[in-house]
Amino acid sequence: MLEVHVLASGSDGNCTVIESDGEAIMIDAGISCKKILKQMEQEGVDKEMVKAILVTHEHSDHVSGAGATARKLGVPVMCNEATFSALNLGSVDYVPIDPSGSFDIGQFHVTPLPTVHNAVQPCAYYTQVDGKKVLLATDTGKLTFQIEAALKEADIAVIEANYDARMLAEGPYPPQLKQLIGSDHGHMCNVDTAKAIRRTMTDSGRQIFLAHLSRTNNEPDIARETVSEITGIRRLNIDCLEFLGDSRTLRA
Ligand SMILES: [Zn+2]
Ligand SMILES: [Zn+2]
Repeated sequence: MLEVHVLASGSDGNCTVIESDGEAIMIDAGISCKKILKQMEQEGVDKEMVKAILVTHEHSDHVSGAGATARKLGVPVMCNEATFSALNLGSVDYVPIDPSGSFDIGQFHVTPLPTVHNAVQPCAYYTQVDGKKVLLATDTGKLTFQIEAALKEADIAVIEANYDARMLAEGPYPPQLKQLIGSDHGHMCNVDTAKAIRRTMTDSGRQIFLAHLSRTNNEPDIARETVSEITGIRRLNIDCLEFLGDSRTLRA
């Protein structure tokens, strides 16, 4: 059984654990080590299973707990070299990854996919394990061809729905930040994410989890409603985290 544990998602911090058959990998660690351990316990994840922490990009909401968690769990941090150079994690065991190739961690076959974001060399991760496929793609202003292809194949897709366009436009952020978020190097809005989900629909029973919702420029109900309206997927079948400290386990 494949389990995807979304331990935190959003600008307050991101952390996801993919687990299969007694092994696990962590993607991003953007909340404190203490919170990560608490959330793992809440979702029934044994910390001994974690083999590595993969980092998508250097923004603090993805890495603030990475150094401490890597040391606590005794596991390496993995990311491309450009990203690692932009990090300051203290003393960690670092394993570089080739941004253009796949690699294996235990039974997990992982492929980094480029995202478009205001970071040095950001990526999403596509993980194949036990015949199942998981896409985790956040922090991208648009979906690259490779991510869209992975979205179509995935059994579980954790995909960004960062903001509602009207809430962003009318919200409190300064104009420059609004412009960056809305640009091709920022984040995906609910409508663009919904359209991508619609374009890649098959009858494979793919599970969609909306990720990295902005606490200021989005609301769970609005994101789910928008995606449901555009894709025709029933609202009950579209999930996301509801509040700070919330977590979720998806199974395939
Ligand atoms: Zn982020
Ligand atoms: Zn970011």
